[in-house]
Amino acid sequence: MGRGPGNPVSACAEGPPRAWGFTPTGCWRRRAAGPEKSLRATSPGNRVSRYSHGVDSPRLPDEDLRRYDRNIRIAGFGAEGQARLRASRVLVVGLGGLGCPAALYLAAAGVGTLGLADPDRVELSNLQRQVLHREASLGLPKTRSAAEALRALCSALRIEEHPIEVTAANAAAILSGYDAVVEATDRFEAKFLLNDACVALGTPLATAGILALSGHALFVVPGRTACLRCAVPEVVRGEPTTAQRGVLGAVPGILGSLLALEVLCHLVGLGPAGAGGRLHSLDGERLRLTTTKIAPRRGCPCGAAKE
Ligand SMILES: [Zn+2]
Repeated sequence: MGRGPGNPVSACAEGPPRAWGFTPTGCWRRRAAGPEKSLRATSPGNRVSRYSHGVDSPRLPDEDLRRYDRNIRIAGFGAEGQARLRASRVLVVGLGGLGCPAALYLAAAGVGTLGLADPDRVELSNLQRQVLHREASLGLPKTRSAAEALRALCSALRIEEHPIEVTAANAAAILSGYDAVVEATDRFEAKFLLNDACVALGTPLATAGILALSGHALFVVPGRTACLRCAVPEVVRGEPTTAQRGVLGAVPGILGSLLALEVLCHLVGLGPAGAGGRLHSLDGERLRLTTTKIAPRRGCPCGAAKE
C-alpha cells in the first residue's frame, strides 16, 4: 500500500519509524512486541471469551472440527471461538499488498463472510506483493481475482464483492452489517474516511500503512481506544508513496497478517491483542517490531478520551 499524499507531522521525538504515510503523534509507551502470556494447547471449548457475538452453544460440523483443529486447541479459542468466527462478517477495503494477506488469513481462520472492496483491476506490477492475484488474473477486477483465490481456499466462505471505491456517499451503506473492517487502501483520504465511518457506526477498524521496508498497524475499537485521528490529527501533504519509494512485499505481508490477527483476536475474544489502541511499528531494515499504547487524544471527534 502506498502512502497517501500527506504525512502528518509528529510532535513526538521518540515516535516509531515513519512509514504509515505518517509519523503518529501522541504519548508513547514503547516496549518490545512479544507474547503477553504463553499459549498452550488445550481441549476445545474450555474457556468463555470476553466478547459476545450471540453464539451460545457452538455445535460445529465434524468437518469444521477437523479443519480448524489448530485454532480450537489454542487456549481461550475453543469451539466457541470458532463458531464466533463462522458467524462473523469482516470487510476488507483494498485488495493490495496489505489486503491480500489480511483476507487470506481471515478466510483461512474460518471467518464466515468476507466483504471485498476495491475499484481497481490487477496489473503486472501488483504481483510483486499482492499475493492473492495471479498472472491469469491480470486485467480482472481485484475483487473477482481475490474472490476466486479465496473460494479455492475455502468453498464455504461467503464473499460479498464491492468492486467500487468506498466514498463518503456510500461508506455507511457498504460498511453497515460488518463486525469489523480492515482498511488496506493506499490513500490517506480513504484511511480517514474509513476511520470516521467506523467511529460513527461503532465498528472496529484495523488499519495500516507501509513504505519501503517499514510500516505501522493500528486496531481501533470505537469509543474505547484511540482512533486513527487520535494518532494523526491532520494530513500533511507531499509525503512520498510506495509508487515513488517502493515497498518490499514481505513488509505488507507482515503488517497485513497483523491486521488479520487483531481482528481475529477481537472476534474470538482473545486478549489483549483484540482490545485495540496499540500501534505496531515494523522497522524492516533492522528487523524490529515495536508495540506502543496510544492514548485517546482529547478533542478528537471519536470521543474516546475521558475529558
Ligand atoms: Zn480519536
